[in-house]
Amino acid sequence: MAKEDLECSFCGRKKPETSLLIAGLDAHICDRCIEQAHGIVIEESKDVATNDLEGELKLRKPQEIKEFLDGYVIGQEFTKRVMSVAVYNHYKRLLQPATDDDIEIQKSNIVMVGQTGTGKTLIAKTIARMLNVPLAIVDATVLTEAGYVGEDVESILTRLLQAADYNLEKAQRGIVFIDEIDKIARKSDNPSITRDVSGEGVQQALLKLLEGTVVNVPPKGGRKHPDQKFIEVNTENILFIAGGAFDGIERHISKRLNMQAMGFVASKSEDVVEKDNMLKYIIPKDLKDFGLIPEIIGRLPVLTHMNPLDAGTLRAILTEPKNAIIKQYKKLFSMDDIELTITDEALDYMVGKAIEYKLGARGLRSLCEAILTDAMFDLPSSDEKSLNVTKTYAESKLNKSTLKKLKAAS
Ligand code: ADP
Repeated sequence: MAKEDLECSFCGRKKPETSLLIAGLDAHICDRCIEQAHGIVIEESKDVATNDLEGELKLRKPQEIKEFLDGYVIGQEFTKRVMSVAVYNHYKRLLQPATDDDIEIQKSNIVMVGQTGTGKTLIAKTIARMLNVPLAIVDATVLTEAGYVGEDVESILTRLLQAADYNLEKAQRGIVFIDEIDKIARKSDNPSITRDVSGEGVQQALLKLLEGTVVNVPPKGGRKHPDQKFIEVNTENILFIAGGAFDGIERHISKRLNMQAMGFVASKSEDVVEKDNMLKYIIPKDLKDFGLIPEIIGRLPVLTHMNPLDAGTLRAILTEPKNAIIKQYKKLFSMDDIELTITDEALDYMVGKAIEYKLGARGLRSLCEAILTDAMFDLPSSDEKSLNVTKTYAESKLNKSTLKKLKAAS
């Protein structure tokens, strides 16, 4: 057969009409048919993946969850334990076989209270990574009641769908982290006499999402638009984790504790209140006094707090987590065959500056960056094969104005 007479055995195109014709044993296939077949293979494997979700969801026992968290999150023992149990129960509920005993396990949505930079987002991210479920991180401050400037609460689910690559099944088992939940607290103690667009109204709108409902979600986000097709998302098995600093909530806690103390004179000596970490004593009522509506609090039944980061914790954050900042820099240098070492004194010095300038854990990275930028610029083009960062070296790279700049940026 002449070359030009060869044809694709699938679509019948002659060789000159194709860009490429590949020969098999008794047949030929053209470039277009290959592309089409490839598309089908991908679609099919997606379906298989969806059906295989049970297997994909990696459910671990609470102790294993905590161990996993330990690899990434320093300290925060209480929260890690509470979260491990809450996450375990949530996914147990999700995998439970349908029974007829009328016992319906309710959701264990979580609220974490703690200063910014203490690891709230990190914990949510780590849990999502461990479970291999999609995670959407949203900021409560951008949410407004429907009809006002800002984002509808449904946009939260748009994000989750995006994080799940629009795989609805996956999204419906995902985790949503709502940051700065404290910012939608009611501003005054009087239940809204005037309308409170950014506060109570948003809390009301969030309610149905938290407890589990079917929501029409615009897949591309933005405001609902009559022409836009909606995706129906069921939020029943989505785990919601809310986080916030709740600045000033200590006042409510101590007021409550003082009132209790007056009633319990005898227990005074037993319960010495740790004044520098009042969050330890937080109870749901304090959230209510702060301005969350009782219905929201009821739908976030697991309440936990984050401890402030002390010097020891900051020091450990630099070197201990699986992807600790210092480990990352060592890796960066090693890619140029340069061995980076940092003395203990230099690390202590950095922690000291982070505390002095109130930079928190986030600031540690900026400090490293400020200390190492010159070396990262110069060394790859030099013959140096090692860099030892001493306290003196670190001091020479961090002058007052750099530190002030870091503080301003933090
Ligand atoms: P939050 O959500 O509480 O404001 P993040 O989780 O975003 O704080 O923390 C900011 C960064 O600080 C994290 O990416 C992480 O590098 C570091 N960090 C904070 N707390 C911890 C911690 N307990 N263990 C390890 N790293 C931490």
